[in-house]
Amino acid sequence: MSVITRFAPSPTGRLHVGNIRTALINWLYARAHGGQFLLRIDDTDAERSTRAFEDGIVADLDWLGLSHDLFMRQSERFARYDAAIAGLKAQGRLYPCYETPEELELKRKVQLGRGRPPVYDRAALKLTDDARADFEARGINPHWRFLLDHETVVWSDLVHGEISIDTASLSDPVLIRADGQPLYTLPNICDDLDFGVSHVIRGEDHITNTAVQVQLFRLLGERVPTFGHHPLMTGAGGEGLSKRLGSLSIGSLREEGFEAMALNSLLARIGTSDPVEPFQSLGQLVDAFDISRISRSPAKFDPDELAHLNERLLHDMPFEAVRARLANMGVKGEGEVLFWETVRPNLAKLSDTVAWWQVVTGPLTPIIEDAAFIAAAADLLPGTPFGPDSWKEWTGAVKQTTGRKGRDLFLPLRLALTARDHGPEMKNLLMLIGPERAHARLRGKTA
Ligand code: GLU
Repeated sequence: MSVITRFAPSPTGRLHVGNIRTALINWLYARAHGGQFLLRIDDTDAERSTRAFEDGIVADLDWLGLSHDLFMRQSERFARYDAAIAGLKAQGRLYPCYETPEELELKRKVQLGRGRPPVYDRAALKLTDDARADFEARGINPHWRFLLDHETVVWSDLVHGEISIDTASLSDPVLIRADGQPLYTLPNICDDLDFGVSHVIRGEDHITNTAVQVQLFRLLGERVPTFGHHPLMTGAGGEGLSKRLGSLSIGSLREEGFEAMALNSLLARIGTSDPVEPFQSLGQLVDAFDISRISRSPAKFDPDELAHLNERLLHDMPFEAVRARLANMGVKGEGEVLFWETVRPNLAKLSDTVAWWQVVTGPLTPIIEDAAFIAAAADLLPGTPFGPDSWKEWTGAVKQTTGRKGRDLFLPLRLALTARDHGPEMKNLLMLIGPERAHARLRGKTA
């Protein structure tokens, strides 16, 4: 059987780190098993779904490199869902209900008051034809519930191992709203069947739904997919993420300058028994992926960990991986490879390179505190062109002539040449700055 996984967001908002973790696990699973990845837009809710959010979802996934092989929108498949609905009605597995939300709430309260679980009592099943006709005559449209088979549903979950759920403890789920719109449950089954989805991997909040869905899969098709339910994501201290999801949207993290692979690396590893490490490419993540490493405790998302991982990733990033993006930022020209290798250990974000490129190419106003010392040092600059040994030669000569050493020797030279008190290795920076600019800066000129 070929592996097909899917990611099924509703286009009612921007994707955030929690959604992306689910998307990534599905994508990695498909790639690791030579399978395909379906992007399904769950847009049955016409009021809340927008094309702009859908475009945002596609753009975010593209940016992360989580390419899809198959694509579909639920809003284009209502005819298919209607046919499935008609079939279920014909089998007597969907029944009309007329209770208002207030009536249902009251039932729940009474049940809870009596110490009973708040499970729907199937009162609508007992309605007579006359009673139903009366509701219809009063213009009250029914919502439709799925008549569950009361049994123990068991499946072998990729994350949890064996899970069993007694469906008698569940309310018959509403599959169609009173306005005729199907909730995502039934379309979900039709799509997973029609697109041959072999593995449904999603958050733990869907575990109870799964029992219902297993019954629907059996009714509507031949096959029940394999399920995996990963624990949900929390903040670093275990707190819920719901309030911070705006700032944890992929769009805002991208704007803040985080690398796509830093996010992918982090989201693939938090909540697993593997260490969080930087991966330069998705291919490497695929090779290292093993779904059995996902743990049963929550994945803790810590923005500081993301920042740290971003730095580690940049520090090892090959020039070829960033050439185009650097060029877009205006960082291109002679010495660009040496420049990249020189500055990358000092970067938190890729955009930090712009300031260092300015240090190297100017104009820059030097900081000179002891003019006499710097003038003496300027006279000792080695001959041109500068090479890898120039810095050592030069500082050796300055040390000999002025008697300065250590910080007293190096810091004023760094300040004069870069206008910063710390940064990448001076040996390389001196070469990159070059003789002309170095002479000018040491003479106090903006260059
Ligand atoms: N659109 C559904 C959700 O985001 C999909 C659930 C599923 O993966 O089956 O909750």
